[in-house]
Order: sequence, then structure tokens, then C-alpha cells
Amino acid sequence: MQKNLTRSIFLAFFFGILTGILTGYVSNFSNDVSKYIVGIYRFGGDVFLKILKMLVVPIVFFSLVSGVSNLNNITSLGRIGIKTISLYIITTLFAISISLTIGTFLDPGNSVSVISDKNAINLNSPPSIGSVFLNIIPENPFKSLVEGNMLQVIFFAILFGACLSSLKQNTVLIGIVFKLNDLILKMLEVLMKIAPLGIFCLIAKTFSSQGIESILELLKYFLGVVMVLFIHLFLVYLPLVKLIAKVNISSFFAGLKEALLFAFSTSSSSATIPITLNNLDKSFKVKKKISSFTVPLGATINMDGTAIMQGMATIFIANFYGVELILTDFLTIIVTATLASIGTAGVPGVGMIMLGMVLNQVGLPLEGIAIVMGVDRLLDMLRTSLNVAGDATVTLIINKVEK
Ligand code: ASP
Repeated sequence: MQKNLTRSIFLAFFFGILTGILTGYVSNFSNDVSKYIVGIYRFGGDVFLKILKMLVVPIVFFSLVSGVSNLNNITSLGRIGIKTISLYIITTLFAISISLTIGTFLDPGNSVSVISDKNAINLNSPPSIGSVFLNIIPENPFKSLVEGNMLQVIFFAILFGACLSSLKQNTVLIGIVFKLNDLILKMLEVLMKIAPLGIFCLIAKTFSSQGIESILELLKYFLGVVMVLFIHLFLVYLPLVKLIAKVNISSFFAGLKEALLFAFSTSSSSATIPITLNNLDKSFKVKKKISSFTVPLGATINMDGTAIMQGMATIFIANFYGVELILTDFLTIIVTATLASIGTAGVPGVGMIMLGMVLNQVGLPLEGIAIVMGVDRLLDMLRTSLNVAGDATVTLIINKVEK
């Protein structure tokens, strides 16, 4: 996201809260007037939500197919490939699990709930754990795409990308997939221009029936994410760095400081790839053969910070809409957020769009995205740094164990 857009989103969020509270106040004098105004907010908000929904399936499909088909050297790298991918996925599972545990404990959003919207939420009766997994395999991939069944779309996209990469003389087809992926990301960029208006409407609508308490709960969500980002760094990455990669913690930070700062200021792990490679080479003498594989791969599929945000956001949004999450929901969140992190492109703000996928999967309203999006810019900067720290951690481990 460009700087101006970020500023507009923040302003829209801020004025949405003010205007919303004011509209709620107007209803004390004239219910009709405030109803009319809320109707306008609803319309503006719905336009924005439909646009977000429109983009989720193509983003997930193309970014996964192009990400996976890019890994054409998985088989040639064999052992390293499998070790790297397993480490990336295991650390993400840890990230989302810590986030859900701390999230359940903090319970952000529990003191507010938009009771009136509860009926609008389409809560399916909870499926059994077995059927959650069975349901990942599509009977008809086109039907999954049309209906937006995300886990099935992901399953199919990974298979599609993997086979695409193993086809001989596939360069033309892969080139087309890459171009289509660029095209979808371009569409996202263009359509995000209306994001401030959409966020203004959604926030104003929400806050016309909510008080100041919602803001405090939002702060709790924000601090919750920041806390889990640090916990993951200190309890998962640093022990791995110290004990397995045998790198000193202080030299880890000193050696990666440019990459971490660059990730923080650009919110893009992909844009940070050259700096990460350079830091790993200069500071830790990592073999180029290893880092040139693990770093771009990590910037494509390893997004622990994003998974952390998504876990906490799902708990916050469920509370906000007064929905109780049960055990199968948590399992669904773990699986979906892990896959969402694989499917998230390493560019600013995509993790927020992919949150839609997680919400969809547990039957929560996409409108929840608007509430957390207002505070997402800073979180995006922080989580991108964590994502890059994760790529570096795994690279150092592989470099060590392959020596
Ligand atoms: N900005 C993140 C990254 O590039 C992705 C996201 O969570 O939006 O790593």
C-alpha cells in the first residue's frame, strides 16, 4: 500500500468512528434521520465488501499456483527442499497456535458485541473433525472456485502448481500464470483506492451502535498481536537460532538489522529478499546455493506474523459479533491460517485480504475486516519483520545442518 493510501485509511477509520458515534447520538433526537444515514453507510460498506470478496478467490488461486510452480527445484534440491518446507510449515503451526492460545486468554472484543448483526451471520452446524479434513478435497474444483470454498481452492491450486512445475517445457504456461498473478495484484492495487471510503462507511455503521468500549477492545486486539509477535520471536525463533543454528542471539540481530528494518519500513517480505540475501551472505557466510532457495521460498510461503494476526483477528471478530468459537472452529482456523500464510503474497496488506478466507471458513462476516483494517498498517510493518526473521532463522538452520 502506498503511503497516501495508508494515511487515507487511517483517517477514514478515525473519522468513521467519530461520525458513527455522532450518528448514534442523532438517533436520540430523530430515529428516522439516523436510520437513513446508517442506510447510506451500509450501502457504501457493502460495495467495498463485495469488491474484497470478488478478489479473494483469484488472489489465492494465482498466488499459490505461481508460488508453488516457482519451486521447480524442489525435487532437484530434494532433501533441502523438504527440510525447508517442513520447517516453514511447523513454525507457522506454532505461530497460529500461540496466537489462538493467547487470544483465547486475552479475549479481545469480549465486552462488545453487535447483537443486531448476529442473525445475519450464517453459522453452519459444526462439522466433525474428520469431515473438516475430508472436505479439503474438492469433488469438482470448478464448483469450489465458483462457490469460493477456500480450502478446496488451495488444495487444488497447490496440486496444480506442483504438477505445472514438473511438466517439461512448461515455461510458457508458467509465464502466463505469473502474468495473471501480476494482473490480479494490480487489480487489488487499483480497487484498494476505494478502501478508505469503504472503511469509513463500515466503521461509521458499526460505531453508530457501539460506544467507546469498542475502541478499547480494538486496542486490546492490537496489543495482543504485538505481544504474540514477540513471544513467537523469543520462544520459537531465538531458541532455534541459538540451539540449532548455533548463532549468537546478538549477532543474529546485528547481522540482520538492515533486512529487519527494510521489512519494517516496506511491509513487504518480497521486496526485502535482496537485503535478506545480502545480510545472510555478509554476516553469516550462508552458502548462496541454500539462501537463494530458502529466502525467496520463505518470502512466498512463510508468513508466521501474518498467521498470528489472523488468529487474533478471528477471535476478536468472533467476539465482536457475539459468536462462540468451538474446538472444530479452532482446528479450521489453524489449518486455514497456515494455508492462508502460504498463499499470502509478500507484499503490503495482503494478509488482511487473506483474513477474509479464514473468516469465511468459520462462518464469520467479512465486515469484521474493516474493523481491524484501521489499525493494520503498523501491525503489517511489525509482522513483516517477523516474517523475514523467520525466513532468516530457517535459512541459518538449513545452512548449519547441511554443512
Ligand atoms: N506484508 C506481509 C509480508 O510481506 C504480508 C501480509 O501479512 O500482509 O510479509
